Amino acid sequence: MSSTTLHMNTVAGVEVSGDHWIGGRRVASPERFDDVSPIDEQVIASISRGGPAEAAAAVAAAKAAFPAWAATPPAERARLLHRIADLVEERLEQLAIVETTDNGALLRSHLRGVMPRVAHNFRFFADYLVNDLHHPEFETRGHRNHVSWDPSGVAVLITPWNAPLMLATWKIAPALASGCTVVLKPAEWTPLTASLLADITADAGLPAGVFNVVQGYGEEVGDALTGDPDVSRISFTGSVPTARLIARSAAANLTPCSFELGGKSPMIVFADADMDSAVANAVEQYDNAGQVCLAGVRLLVQDSIRDEFLARFVERASSLRQGDPRDLTTDIGPNVSREHVDRIDGFVQRAIADGARAVIGGGPDVDLGGLFYRPTLFVDAQPGSEILTEEVFGPVLTLQTFSTEEEAVAMANGTEFGLAGVLFTGDPDRAERVGAQLVAGTLWVNCFFVRDLRAPFGGSRHSGVGREGGTWSFDFYCDVKNTCTNQDRWTTGR
Ligand code: ADP
Repeated sequence: MSSTTLHMNTVAGVEVSGDHWIGGRRVASPERFDDVSPIDEQVIASISRGGPAEAAAAVAAAKAAFPAWAATPPAERARLLHRIADLVEERLEQLAIVETTDNGALLRSHLRGVMPRVAHNFRFFADYLVNDLHHPEFETRGHRNHVSWDPSGVAVLITPWNAPLMLATWKIAPALASGCTVVLKPAEWTPLTASLLADITADAGLPAGVFNVVQGYGEEVGDALTGDPDVSRISFTGSVPTARLIARSAAANLTPCSFELGGKSPMIVFADADMDSAVANAVEQYDNAGQVCLAGVRLLVQDSIRDEFLARFVERASSLRQGDPRDLTTDIGPNVSREHVDRIDGFVQRAIADGARAVIGGGPDVDLGGLFYRPTLFVDAQPGSEILTEEVFGPVLTLQTFSTEEEAVAMANGTEFGLAGVLFTGDPDRAERVGAQLVAGTLWVNCFFVRDLRAPFGGSRHSGVGREGGTWSFDFYCDVKNTCTNQDRWTTGR
């Protein structure tokens, strides 16, 4: 590592360090990369481009801080996490505008929903540690069994750009609550709020080395982190190909991995469903410009209501306002980068060439600039075609019809994914029958996106490995231990 000069950026009026946060201090790399805003494709920050040296330094700092943090009483760990949450709330507007400038997601969502939930992530896992993580005890022929959750060591967290701070703190909060120390590698497209969070942890009084941030490209710094023998856990949210690389790298040390990956989730609408609600929820699948892993992007509509559903969907979707995500009246902002928009457009153009018909959308909105992809709905896609089976991660939905429950289930389960399912029906028996047959980590019935951190979250099949939330998070970050004691052999009193 070098002693290269540190670099401070001013983003939307907020000072954001462009450097790593390792062992409680800022560290610069000799090489840097530009961070570009998707709103206008302007460079907004210069970021240290980490590599193996910075990865090793961060893991070493986290390893050195681990024994003391693991030995810190749970109530004290919880107090510090609540203090972090307080500071997130105090700086909520700064975090919101910096995130919007960095990834193009709506300022309205960041202010009202996302950043308050970032604070809640810390509060929830702090409280869960103290109040809800029960340590079961039971007797076996006079022996006492006691289950405990021992922190495992250094957790490497690798996170994506679609909801940067939200998704990172789903991992950071339980890892820290567990007593693990953390090395976070945010996505290179969206490095900024992770850097602000590093400042917040320092201001909250978190000891040096407990939380570290290494910036850089996945294949450079990410790969060095996942292959480090001093790492006890790897939690990753991102794409299936990257998960394969991480699993391969982690295999050398048998490091346990938690993966939250892509989806191609179905939204099934039966003729007996509340049509208003189904249409409103279907249009909501364009949220975050379609960059939501959970989105129900395959609309499967019972044939008898197809025409009415389609007409109402098109009417409602056409009223969405696309534009500057900093404008609080905007419904859809830009996609994250030019490279990503080109990828989305590739899917769309191949679908059209394959015979699918775009009822709305079908290309970027050139008047707004390059990165605003118009909300798109395809009908008449060929069964088995790419647009029906692969994750686009943009504002692109497809509509297909079915006639029977069996057909709906077969279509819904007909991809390699199993992240979420959305089911609209007025019949509770049907909901139970169909729901039981769907392969999905999360199933929403007559609703969408309701999330409670007590619930398990994750994907089946290629959508993921493991679950996050509540006890599932603690199970992952900890070495769960059972102590079996013969109670009759004590030779001294307590
Ligand atoms: P996307 O294709 O949506 O950008 P990725 O899976 O490539 O998703 O990226 C998600 C995260 O994984 C980012 O933080 C990225 O830097 C990181 N990453 C990419 N490649 C690797 C790798 N080989 N090893 C570790 N992390 C990686």
